[in-house]
Formats: sequence, structure tokens, C-alpha cells
Amino acid sequence: MILLSDNVKTKTTFVSPDMKICDDCLQDIKDTNSRFYGYFATNCTNCGPKYSIIKTLPYDRCNTSMDKFVMCEVCKSGYENTTDRRFHAQPLSCPNCGPKLSLYDKNKTLLDTKDPIKQTATLIKEGKIVAIKGLGGFHIVCDSKNDETINRLRSSKNRPFKPFALMCKDVEQIVKFAEVNTKEKEVLESKESPIVILDIKDDFTLSSLIAPCIKKIGCMVAYTPLQVLLMECLDNSIIATSANLGDEPIIKDMDSIYEKLPFVDFVLDFDRDIINAVDDSLVQVVDDRVQVLRRARGYVPLSLKLDGKLSQNILSVGANQKNTICIGYGDNVVLSPHIGDLDSIANMEFFNRSV
Ligand SMILES: [Zn+2]
Ligand SMILES: [Zn+2]
Repeated sequence: MILLSDNVKTKTTFVSPDMKICDDCLQDIKDTNSRFYGYFATNCTNCGPKYSIIKTLPYDRCNTSMDKFVMCEVCKSGYENTTDRRFHAQPLSCPNCGPKLSLYDKNKTLLDTKDPIKQTATLIKEGKIVAIKGLGGFHIVCDSKNDETINRLRSSKNRPFKPFALMCKDVEQIVKFAEVNTKEKEVLESKESPIVILDIKDDFTLSSLIAPCIKKIGCMVAYTPLQVLLMECLDNSIIATSANLGDEPIIKDMDSIYEKLPFVDFVLDFDRDIINAVDDSLVQVVDDRVQVLRRARGYVPLSLKLDGKLSQNILSVGANQKNTICIGYGDNVVLSPHIGDLDSIANMEFFNRSV
């Protein structure tokens, strides 16, 4: 039997970071006999959304954006079974009871399609720019070999040179165009699944517009079941850049895509809300050590233990540039996601919300 958490007054439970799909769930979505076969929102206790869907503590389903989905009997029995991998997995759902995908065109008209993921893959192959909902926000996605589309994306976003990140099926796809050493492979395949900055190989066959004039490229491996299923339908890697305007925070709802990024041709959305926006993390490996350049999805909230207890609770609000906040209480410090520069109203709102 599951006891509901008391409505705690001092909210000191830790919230876990969002995690990449685990190997067991990966098997489930590819197994035609599994009830999770092809299901874009498959997760278990070991993987899936956590921090990004929580509204308040404690971390119970009723306090997350999964509260509107009523579990079917099969999901419920897994949720209540202590020996089940999905015991107490708060975002647990299946095709019968969980979030559904919707694909919209430029005019916000819902497309009539049986397989929105396959349809999205076709659109990407045709050179379209698609906004796709992820764990902590939307990505703007397009084919990594299509110069014309990437040019259009660059001019629409007013971003002439800044490199775009790539999303790939797996490390095997990445080693075709970038150097990957043992440590980098380990980080690329880790449960945090950050963007890793890699050296470009000499025989680089993707578009030179992805990262003009530099010999480096940021790559990540598909980390949500939706992304895994999409990459299965594609031959090429895709540009997957955060959906935002300039230095504003990553967009987490469909309406803002239409409002702020009108050049997007299609939007692949689903009805599990993102509560806390969290961008992709960015790291590089130097001398076999991981250097975090942007600590976000997968790594935050980060809890560290202090040697001694603090005499009082502390909120550190950080600097104006590259902002991150930190809370100290007892012998803990908890670091927020990367918030960014606080020059825009949108980022100030993100800052306030994070606090
Ligand atoms: Zn899992
Ligand atoms: Zn279900």
C-alpha cells in the first residue's frame, strides 16, 4: 500500500534531475509485444521527467503536471507493486491513459495523421523546420545536411554564426563526423545526456553552416523516447537548438512558439505540461575530466553536502551574467539550472520562478 506524503510544512525533500530514457524502457518501446511499444512518453523509476514536471513538493503525482491523467488499471497495478520497475514512478502512463502527441502546421491547424512521429520525420527530410517538445523545453529541429533550410533558420533566428547543437541516434552516428574518445563516449551515453563539444573530423560531410569557421561541434544522443523514435525514422542527424528568442529562456509551451518563432513550419506537441524550463546541459572533456559549461537538464537541481551546518538558511542570487541561483539550508546547498543573462524581462521572470 502506498501512503500519501504528509503535507509537509518544511519542504526539504530533494527533487531529482530529469533523466534520459533507461535501457529497459528503450527495450519496451522497441518490443512489439510490450504495451509501451512505440509510446513516446514511456518512463520508469529510473528514467524520465522529474524536475521539469514538478509544481511543488513533495514529489507526488498530484504535485506534478501528470495530475490530470488518470492511470488505467494496468498502470495502476504496476505503480502499486513494490517489485515493479515502475513502482511509484510518478509520470507513469501508457498509450491508453497518458499524454498524446499532436502535430500542428504553421496556422496551428491539427494535422490528421496516425503517426505524428513518422510524419514529423518526413517533414524534416523535406527540409521543414519543426519545433519539437522535449523534457525541459522545445527544440527547433531540421535536417543537418540541408544548407537551404539551415540558412533559413539562421536568418530567421538572426543568428549568423553561433554554432547549432546536433542530436544523433547514437555514438556510432557521431563518430562518422567527430572524434570521440572513451571519456567523451561515456558522457554522451550517460543518464544526464548533455551536449558534448567534440572535434570535427577532416572529412566532415554535414552542412558547413552548422558550426561555421570552427573545428568543433556540440552533439547529444537522443534522450527521450520521443526523440529515440524520431531518430529511428531518420537517416541523418538533426540540428536541435533550444527554442528561444536571443538570450531569453527556452520556450516550454506551444503558444509561445507561434508567438515568438513564426518561421517554424510545424510543431510537434504533447499534453504533459513542462512546469520548470530546463535547457540542455553543455560540457566538454579536458584531460579526461568533464568540464560543465552550462549546468542544466540532467545535472540540476544539484544537491551538495557541506562539511558543517549553516547557521541560517541562505539564498544566493548570483550575478547578472550567466546567472544561477543557489539555496543553502542545514548542511545542504542546492544549485538551480543555468538561467542565463538577466537582461530581458523573460529571463527575469525565469529567475523569479526559479527562486
Ligand atoms: Zn526507464
Ligand atoms: Zn495506462
